Amino acid sequence: MHEMSILMSMVEMAEQYAKQQHAERITGISLEIGEMSAVVPEYVEFLFPDVTEGTMLEGAELSIRRQPVCVRCRDCDTVYEWRKEGFRCPACGSEAAQIVSGREFKIQSIEIRKEDENDGSGESH
Ligand SMILES: [Zn+2]
Repeated sequence: MHEMSILMSMVEMAEQYAKQQHAERITGISLEIGEMSAVVPEYVEFLFPDVTEGTMLEGAELSIRRQPVCVRCRDCDTVYEWRKEGFRCPACGSEAAQIVSGREFKIQSIEIRKEDENDGSGESH
């Protein structure tokens, strides 16, 4: 499972960011995972508690947003959503297309808590 190493570098990036912000802890993280990325969201959710144990992300709330796959028609440049059932350009009917998004795996946002911060702000629950 390569999700493990991907998650570990994600934790590193998040911690680096949190340290720059002088945060005490990371309380939440949102990830964006493309439908066509090699990362399986179910694995990410499953591995998250283990990977984050003992890090600043321990106990952080994980939210994952799936990004649909979008392709661009090679014949008329129309961008449309790709579907597994088969795709065809809605404008000209061509099946020649190239992927423009849907392969990404990235951190969308990170919620942090700072040491000197008072309660009330920034907490969503
Ligand atoms: Zn087209």
